[in-house]
Amino acid sequence: MKGVKLGLIGDPVDHSLSPVMMRAALRARGLEGDYHLLPTPARLLDERLDEVRADFRGVNVTVPHKRRVMDRLDAVEPEARRVGAVNVIVNEGGRLVGHNTDAAGFYRALERADALPGEALVLGAGGAARAVVHALVSAGWLVGVHNRTLERAQRLVEELGGWLVVPGKLEKAVRRTPMLINATSVGLGDPNASPLPEGWLPEAGVVVDLVYAPLETRLLREARAAGLRTLDGLGMLLGQGALAFELWTGQPAPEAAMEAVLREEATRWKP
Ligand code: NAP
Repeated sequence: MKGVKLGLIGDPVDHSLSPVMMRAALRARGLEGDYHLLPTPARLLDERLDEVRADFRGVNVTVPHKRRVMDRLDAVEPEARRVGAVNVIVNEGGRLVGHNTDAAGFYRALERADALPGEALVLGAGGAARAVVHALVSAGWLVGVHNRTLERAQRLVEELGGWLVVPGKLEKAVRRTPMLINATSVGLGDPNASPLPEGWLPEAGVVVDLVYAPLETRLLREARAAGLRTLDGLGMLLGQGALAFELWTGQPAPEAAMEAVLREEATRWKP
């Protein structure tokens, strides 16, 4: 294998920002190597993993394989097992080991922004919400969880901690929380969609949106107009990518270089 050969397994993968971020990281550290998009329909997943085992230092994993890849690896780190998703594979001399850097990457983004109120309300119960709730609960935060499909949120809190916020209590919970986190996919690809009715915002504090296409979602726009602090989805993307880079290369991630290209690329997004 020549240099640090990295890639992304998923379906689709063509809109990913990971190649620009990881190439910038390799360049900044003076490492030879490349980051390849590896479009992988479900029926080709086993073949793709053989290819990774033979030829790659590691890969990211994205939709729809984050869960199903777990059974096919040689080992899965306990944190990834708990979250129920692998987003990074490290090839340790032919042994494929699964990690989850979404959870720690999200927390790293909050630390970097010095936004750590110790209490949050999370909207969503999919893969991203699971990573976020796991990160916050592990750090000792008080975490409320609401989701359109309530049973899914109920299962999430039973497995990972936090408490369920039912629809009748949602408006009050939103107003009182010091940190509101949108971990649903509402807003993705649509600058006019919001996961909450207009005017439902915290009275004070921070609003975080994991969506990064577009960077400025309707929720963040409304929050900023109401004088609240906002954090967009690039923080988590950068955090998970920085941790992945460190796992693959053993070197500290050049976060400033990674963030600069990410922000440049993400602001080019058009509906
Ligand atoms: P997912 O597993 O498909 O979960 C989607 C979530 O959104 C579910 O909770 C779903 O609720 C909810 N949802 C979808 N449509 C909705 C609607 N119309 N109204 C209310 N709720 C709705 O997706 P995911 O992987 O968790 O990703 C969620 C978002 O996070 C995506 O926008 C993704 O791009 C973003 N993300 C960002 C990062 C980052 O690094 N910044 C990392 C991962 C994900 P139901 O359970 O009711 O269907």
